[in-house]
Amino acid sequence: MQAINELYSLLSAPANVVITTHQKPDPDAMGSSLGLYHLLVQLGHTVQVISPTNWAAFLDWMPGCEKVLNYEVTIDKSNTIIRNADWIFCLDFNALNRLKKMGQVVAEAKGQRVLIDHHREPQTEVFAYGVSDVTKSSTCEMVYDFIVHSGHADKLNMDMMQCLYAGVIGDTGSFRFASASASVFEMVADFKRRGLQHTAIHENIYDNFLENRFRFIGHVLSNRMEIDYELNTALIWVTKQDLLRYQIKTGDTEGLVNYPLGIQGIKLACIVIDRDEKRKWSFRSKGDFDCNTFARTYFNGGGHYNAAGGETDDSLETTVKQFKKVIQLYKEQLETI
Ligand code: 5GP
Ligand code: MN
Repeated sequence: MQAINELYSLLSAPANVVITTHQKPDPDAMGSSLGLYHLLVQLGHTVQVISPTNWAAFLDWMPGCEKVLNYEVTIDKSNTIIRNADWIFCLDFNALNRLKKMGQVVAEAKGQRVLIDHHREPQTEVFAYGVSDVTKSSTCEMVYDFIVHSGHADKLNMDMMQCLYAGVIGDTGSFRFASASASVFEMVADFKRRGLQHTAIHENIYDNFLENRFRFIGHVLSNRMEIDYELNTALIWVTKQDLLRYQIKTGDTEGLVNYPLGIQGIKLACIVIDRDEKRKWSFRSKGDFDCNTFARTYFNGGGHYNAAGGETDDSLETTVKQFKKVIQLYKEQLETI
């Protein structure tokens, strides 16, 4: 993988560009994709954002979101666009298996793949150009860097700032995580000076749910949360029936894993949700517990040091049992955190 700045001079020739991101895009995934989309369109490229799957309705307000293709329902059209692309930008993920069914066509495409990402352990050999930096708060911050470093700060418009700001608040927990560095606040200051109204963006993302989601959270916190004070660990498990009963949609479970971290002393919070084909895990830690390695070792996943995800084909019951077994291996570490 060559450094991303090697690409800057190549951007002046109009090209067919695909931008893609991880399945079930979150605000950082969708925001960074659309932020880059609005830049590349202004530079004269033909650009299509393709998401490997559907996404949460709380992202629909993002400028440009209405033009994004959901691969799962546009397979033939998307395959043609991917095969014709000169550049395939891969944002907020770093291994092609995170593209699910879209992974193969992206792997076989003739276009050059470009990586912009902040997760651990990138699959660098599949990218021609790229930047991978785990110290960055978000891929949105990295797209901002890309815009500024490639000499296009003058192209930063309101659409781009709204998309990029959304991703930064998503991935920094509205500026509370350690990843909210001085450069994050400098970027936000730049946006504010350019006229960004930030309050509406928080409302669009966090105050945009239906009542059923809050009834569901009440049920889950009452009946599905187990706390182990010896291990300073919380586990939430959600059944298929729970999802059906409360009519839970993509995005409704986002952030649920963070609730137990608000309990005094809890250093690790985990949630497993019985989705259609897979059981999907999320892990969040405070301090010195490496969620990325834990998710990679036991749950076919990965991510960041303090936030990671994973998945398994095992039943809900089996994977919960497995979790309770392997977490004991970390007893010494967790009880002293
Ligand atoms: P979440 O728990 O919100 O799904 O994900 C937390 C972080 O881990 C995100 O940055 C996400 O991209 C990453 N992540 C989630 N699931 C997986 C997975 O199955 N594999 C890998 N490599 N990363 C994941
Ligand atoms: Mn991210």
